[in-house]
Amino acid sequence: MTKRLLLGAGLALIASRGAAQQPRLSITPSRPGGGTLTRLTIDRIAGHADSVVSVVGEMAGEPLHFLDAGKDKLQALGAIPVEVSDSVVANVVVGRASGKSDTLRLKLDYPHQAPPPPPLGSRGRAKGARRLRVDPRFTARPDSATEARVEHENELARDVGRKAQETPALWQAPFSRPRSAKVTSKFGSGRVFNGRVSSSHLGVDYRGAFGDPIYAANRGVVALVDTFFLAGNVVYVNHGDGLVTGYFHMSQAEVAVGDTVDKGQEIGRVGATGRVTGPHLHWSARFGALTINPADLLALGPPFVPSTARSSGNGHASATTRKRSGNPVARR
Ligand SMILES: [Zn+2]
Repeated sequence: MTKRLLLGAGLALIASRGAAQQPRLSITPSRPGGGTLTRLTIDRIAGHADSVVSVVGEMAGEPLHFLDAGKDKLQALGAIPVEVSDSVVANVVVGRASGKSDTLRLKLDYPHQAPPPPPLGSRGRAKGARRLRVDPRFTARPDSATEARVEHENELARDVGRKAQETPALWQAPFSRPRSAKVTSKFGSGRVFNGRVSSSHLGVDYRGAFGDPIYAANRGVVALVDTFFLAGNVVYVNHGDGLVTGYFHMSQAEVAVGDTVDKGQEIGRVGATGRVTGPHLHWSARFGALTINPADLLALGPPFVPSTARSSGNGHASATTRKRSGNPVARR
């Protein structure tokens, strides 16, 4: 488990003022659905005679990286699992100079969900689901070798997310769209392939013709370039602090693993590889191992991205540096 300690100047500023008051942990939005990238806030952290020397937290199995959000607050991103069931819990320990600590806990309740059906095998049509025609090779019940391949590819993608939790934030500007084209399918909309319900849509689709450019949504390091059964030719970019973006169905990738890409840099071309009805870009995102709605990245505000830069376009924002609450002294 990744732990991140925050020590030093930033946090020393928010010490010892007035009467002792318990810090408080809250989440925005207050009722986040599966796949939502949330904002966790610790407030009332000052007004305490004992200064804060560390903040370590975890939600849904993923570490939380708290930043100084000003006004006596620390904030971190956290994700709700797509298949959320029963509850999601966040735990945060705020360490004090005296050696004492405050343990903060937040619990969100959800309905119990039965485990999801096999992704390609069940009948029926979800409400509002869209009917699509694809190559029957993708809708027939997969053989065990194909199932094993898909699971292995999912594991590769989850690994990229886990490594992103160990990587410091590599971006200093807001996230931007990977194409300026129209969104043709949003995150989470039900899908029907040849009359069979498939998994919900875990990304955002952008219109595109063969060979149209695809741009990196933000600065990062290319973590995976591969050909997947469902996603076709893929590029995954590790942006750090747990965030990863993925670009599917490319006709060709134009980057290699280990490349540092800038926000707005062309990383590949639109194609129709993998399970598709035609050429388009499927854009995905993760927070650690958890799949999130990539549209939530576009909505990020301070302290995660600077407020001065524009959030649209593919240009390089001349941004102020993200303000971290002290120096991360232990990043494991
Ligand atoms: Zn898609």
